[in-house]
Amino acid sequence: MAVQLKNAGKVFHTHYAHRREKRVGYDAHINHERVILHSDCNSFYASVEELYDPDLRRVPLAVAGDPETRHGIILAKNQWAKMYGVATGEAVWEAKQKCANLVVVPPHYDWYMQMSRLCRRIYSDYTDRVEPMGMDECFLDLTGCERYLGKSGREAADEIRTRVREELGITVSVGVSFNKVFAKLGSDLKKPDATTEITPDNFRERIWGLPTDSMLGVGRATYKKLRSAGVVTLGQLAAVPEELLEAKFGKIGLWLWAAVRGLERGEVATGEESLPIKSVGHSSNALRDLENDAEVWSFMLWISQELAYRMRKCGKKAYGIMVSVRENDLSWYTYQKKFGSATSNDAVIAEKAFEVFREKHKWRCPLRSVGIHGIYLDELDAPEQLTVSEDGEKRERLERLDRTLDELNDAFGFGTVTRAACIRNPCAPGMELRELVMPNARYM
Ligand SMILES: [Mg+2]
Repeated sequence: MAVQLKNAGKVFHTHYAHRREKRVGYDAHINHERVILHSDCNSFYASVEELYDPDLRRVPLAVAGDPETRHGIILAKNQWAKMYGVATGEAVWEAKQKCANLVVVPPHYDWYMQMSRLCRRIYSDYTDRVEPMGMDECFLDLTGCERYLGKSGREAADEIRTRVREELGITVSVGVSFNKVFAKLGSDLKKPDATTEITPDNFRERIWGLPTDSMLGVGRATYKKLRSAGVVTLGQLAAVPEELLEAKFGKIGLWLWAAVRGLERGEVATGEESLPIKSVGHSSNALRDLENDAEVWSFMLWISQELAYRMRKCGKKAYGIMVSVRENDLSWYTYQKKFGSATSNDAVIAEKAFEVFREKHKWRCPLRSVGIHGIYLDELDAPEQLTVSEDGEKRERLERLDRTLDELNDAFGFGTVTRAACIRNPCAPGMELRELVMPNARYM
């Protein structure tokens, strides 16, 4: 997302300079030609789970990272669970307090990947300009569709919704607009299975009443800053003078000024520019707060196991690692670094993550949760130059071992084989000794 924002900002920046010179009304710069769709699968993980087991449609359902422990985190929920107030990101035990008969299942990332591909196949019947944002969302550039499809953007959106529902059995919400930011906002406005069109004529009444953080590009920090200055809605944001936004937020401020007026011009990335998955991550709350480097290290080792397993399931390896930490006063920090070689091995991931953490984190207070994300992803089997210092044979042996462990974990359940170091980790939830343990397997 950072990349998209940067590009959007750049495109706008030239445009903005031009506006400042001429001092003309900004409405004249709205691009009426563009037709951008944002298609968002509704309750994606939960909907896919319901397809594989239709009985789940009738019960409140949640997908959670580690459903066997009460501390697993809710990744997704269906409509029933939503009605009970079950929220993404909370712990299973919290969710069960709201809904005692909540059915909790583990995620099946290979199913989600498959469904994600099938959705994109439908989208590609309408345009070759499809930019995925995560597994369940895509931007589509349908500019000129009246001519080449004989349909308006809204008609195409309705058809896509019908096809996804009838051919794949899940539903999508689609936003139709003249830029990416508003298209994304549109898909959020009405769910499930709905089309929302935001036009140059109606965007002020449709979105200016919404809180600023409903707009793409307004993150937690920006939202907080705006709110403390008394700017809560997008309409209030639109009333802030551009100079003030620039002074407060720099380039982002200029971008916000433009975006809220419908002047955002970010391109929909196509083909090679867009990687289907931009990151694979795993994070978890510690059972008790982490207080020093040693505790963070063993927690990272534990997280890396599931992350690496997930990455291999998606057929990915990562050239970069992003670490996110939340302190016990709920402040968030993220640190990232790109490496010369790619990996999908948990020990290597943990080492790199710890390196990033040691380099960049300043201890202020204990940590409540830690996440590790693989970024700069490539296909698992993509060729790669080994650096001189690297031992190719050892690496191959590790990869063979990973494949064997995956098969065991697939057959007997995740966590069947685990690192000895993780078994008695007082901070890591859900890593009890199970049937089969090969304590030193990962250190061969
Ligand atoms: Mg979604």
